[in-house]
Formats: sequence, structure tokens, C-alpha cells
Amino acid sequence: MLIPSPIEVIKYPLFTEKKINVYVKRDDLIHPEISGNKWRKLKYNLIEAKAQHKKTILTFGGAYSNHISATGAVGKILGFKTIGIIRGEETLPLNPTLMQAKKDGMKLLYVSRVEYRKKHTAEFIDKLKDELGEFYIIPEGGGNKLGVQGCNDIVHEIDIDFNYILTDCGTGATLAGICEVLNKNQKAIGVPVLKGGEFIYDEIKLLLGDTYTSAESQFTLENGYHFGGYAKHNQELILFMRNFLAKTNIKTDPIYTGKLFYALVDLVKKDYFKEGSTIVVVHTGGLQGIKGFENRYGFSIFGKK
Ligand SMILES: *Cc1c(COP(=O)(O)O)cnc(C)c1O
Repeated sequence: MLIPSPIEVIKYPLFTEKKINVYVKRDDLIHPEISGNKWRKLKYNLIEAKAQHKKTILTFGGAYSNHISATGAVGKILGFKTIGIIRGEETLPLNPTLMQAKKDGMKLLYVSRVEYRKKHTAEFIDKLKDELGEFYIIPEGGGNKLGVQGCNDIVHEIDIDFNYILTDCGTGATLAGICEVLNKNQKAIGVPVLKGGEFIYDEIKLLLGDTYTSAESQFTLENGYHFGGYAKHNQELILFMRNFLAKTNIKTDPIYTGKLFYALVDLVKKDYFKEGSTIVVVHTGGLQGIKGFENRYGFSIFGKK
């Protein structure tokens, strides 16, 4: 695993023309199966699991989940048994995400969507404990307090002065962790990949608790870049991702980071940032999901290599 992840300048003609300095925090390079921000959210949870002498990690996710993939891989590397409670029925052959998780030794248990909604109830957990023995629970996506704490490290690892930091948002846990440790003169911008991303304000409030009031003025959400909702996409997004790879050598995924970098370029185009600004974009990873996405939609994003 590559920790701390590298930070690099992005060379892109538009940024030069607008006199904006853009860096990328390459959390996508931490590990091929461990989506960058998922490692951030797992780290302190795994330290806690160890402290509690738990040998098994149990967590939850959808069939294409970056979090499931990351938990399986990290379990294999660090010597935890892992169990993934997967939303919905088993579909064979397994998709690339679940196939890899299984190869990494993760035990996959499928529950109906209705059951899945009850996953946080004591009844549901007790039943699992009866069947499976002791385990340490990590919530879906890893976004608990310890998960947010792990995302503080993204900022702590950055050794350059910056004015803005951009990240994509699913639940907002990563953005929360980033906001918590910014300096007063720095701003975070979240790019929700789901429709109706306004819920993220409440989510961040919940995650940050008392520190929220100080963080509130330091972040904004740019809600115009979800492309219709989670995993929704169009030709423009795919063409952008290809073009961005060709120009910068940075690969993005269609669910999260493609939309993030699209937003970055669009905001720069619209002169959102003052001349001379320094921006850090967090490449949160997600590349493991490309294969599954391509299978599902029946086309290749970057062509065969
Ligand atoms: C899960 C994930 C996110 C969303 O993170 P949140 O903390 O839920 O906002 C962003 N990018 C990638 C690549 C992810 O896998």
C-alpha cells in the first residue's frame, strides 16, 4: 500500500490559461482494490477492531461497492477475516467487485433489500452474531466517527499551501473529515454524485457534531454535477474522462471521480476560482468499479489496452 499517497501537479491547458495551480492527491494510487477514501475510513476502525481483539470485520454494501472491495482487500493484507452483507440476491457469475472480494477471502452473505434496511437493528445484528460469532461492525461505506477521523489524514498529508480542496461526495463523510481540519482561510468544495445532494449538509452536521459550526462556513456543495444521479452518466461524461486521461494521464471512474474532475474543469471554465488560486483535488479512487460498470452497460470506457 502506498501511504502517504503522492501529491502531483495537474498539467492541463485550461488551468495554465486561467493561471490556476491544481494539484491532485492521488489516493487512487494507495492500492488497486482499495479505493482511496475507503482506506481512510477503514484505518482507525481496524485499529479499534485490533484493540478490541476482534479477528473478524463485518460490513455492508451493494454488489458493486468500493467499500466491500476495499474491506476484502484490506482484510487480506492485515490478517482480518471479513464478512460482507450484500444488498439483494446473488447473481452468478459474480461481478468483478464481488469476485475479487471473494478471492480476497471475504465471506459474502446476501440479504433481501427489505432485510437490508433493518441492518442496524439489534435484532438483525444479534441474529448474525448467533450464526457467525463475534465481529467488529463497520457501517456501510465506513462513514462512522472513526471513518471521518481517517479522512482528516488526507489534509494532514498535504504539505503545500492551498486555497481550495475538492472532493466527490456520496454520504459526505470524506468531506466532513476534510472540513474538520482545514485552516480558516481554506475552503472545501464537495461534488455530490447523487441527485438531491442537499441531504449532505445534514449528514455532515450529524457527523461533525460540535465542530460543525466552525466547519459550516468553510465548505460548499456544487450540486450540478450528478449527471442524473448515482451511476447515471452520459456520453459527455465518458468523452470527458477519455480526454482527461489523454491530457493528464489520470484515470477516473464513471461513478465518482469522473464527475469530480468534470466539475473541477467546469468550475475553472466559469472562473469560479480567482487567478493565482491553488486547488487540491482528492482523487478518491473508485477505479476498481470500472470493470463492473463496463460489463453492466456493455461498453469499454478507455478501450482495451
Ligand atoms: C465511497 C466513495 C466516495 C464517497 O465518499 P463519502 O465519504 O461517502 O462521501 C467518493 N469516491 C469514491 C471513489 C468512493 O469509493
